[in-house]
Amino acid sequence: MKNDVFVLRGNGDIETRYLIASPGRAGAYWLREEANRLGIATEYGPIDVGVRVEFPAEIYTAIEEVMYDAKLRVRTATHDDMVRTFCTNPRGFVVKETYKEFVLVNGHAENEGETENTNFALLSHVDLTDPVEDTTEYGRAIAKLATTIGGGKPIIQRLKDLKNGRRSTQERLQRATIVPTLVDVTPGDISMALPARIVENILEGLDQLDNIIPGLAADNTLLYAPEIKFYDTQYPVNRSMETRIPGFFVAGDASGHCRGIVYSAVTGLIAGEAIRKREQA
Ligand SMILES: Cc1cc2nc3c(=O)[nH]c(=O)nc-3n(C[C@H](O)[C@H](O)[C@H](O)COP(=O)(O)OP(=O)(O)OC[C@H]3O[C@@H](n4cnc5c(N)ncnc54)[C@H](O)[C@@H]3O)c2cc1C
Repeated sequence: MKNDVFVLRGNGDIETRYLIASPGRAGAYWLREEANRLGIATEYGPIDVGVRVEFPAEIYTAIEEVMYDAKLRVRTATHDDMVRTFCTNPRGFVVKETYKEFVLVNGHAENEGETENTNFALLSHVDLTDPVEDTTEYGRAIAKLATTIGGGKPIIQRLKDLKNGRRSTQERLQRATIVPTLVDVTPGDISMALPARIVENILEGLDQLDNIIPGLAADNTLLYAPEIKFYDTQYPVNRSMETRIPGFFVAGDASGHCRGIVYSAVTGLIAGEAIRKREQA
């Protein structure tokens, strides 16, 4: 930055008085490093760590008819942690998210091309305090470990195998009555990849949710790991999404203030509107 003007270095420099940084989840870590370099203070927020659960679509129909993407929250008995469902995809697909240093799982549904399965994320809330607050590095360490155990691919495991303390194998998966929608995966053992507390939360969460989705905690339910939602690096901003550096705005998932398509778009509009008004003043 020079004379209140940002200089973006690339193939030909760009000079600008305003900057909106919105690189999404894929660029959140990069933005954090850049922000630290520029002296923009960041704060740590919680992350959500867990699995993608895939099960026969029929068992979810009663809920889906009331709400397509219901968010269900339970508190686990052993650790008193909050576990929640997120991003439900009735008759959808489990998908792989590839990052530079690790892979994660996610899910989506398509207008055309329904499957026999429904999936949602089942996530355990992680907030760190003393002596380590950096949830980003904690989440990245989990993601890298899981990717190592999966040989560079997400891990898939039958719930029965996880409960019985053994890995899933291709042969055991073939005996399951559910056909996985993501095939570029490694049958393995999620308990080797995720912290014990998170695995216990997932198992207890599934048992509780089975009361309202009967059949969810069945032997053949499929679990994919890791699913991690990084919204943790938060930039202190004013009502216009402007950071403490005048003219430097953040928006979207990387801002740490929102998650999802609608809120990302809204925060971008808020920042854009603030710049427009300032230019017209
Ligand atoms: C499979 C899947 C399913 C989802 N389903 C839903 C859903 O049903 N509902 C919902 O609300 N949300 C859903 N989401 C989340 C939603 O996509 C995001 O919350 C939203 O796209 C975030 O918007 P954004 O503009 O912040 O980031 P993005 O949409 O990720 O856009 C950021 C852009 O910045 C680019 N970029 C990154 N780093 C740099 C850099 N250094 N230089 C230049 N460009 C860079 C990226 O390539 C990308 O194009 C889903 C996400 C995935 C992956």
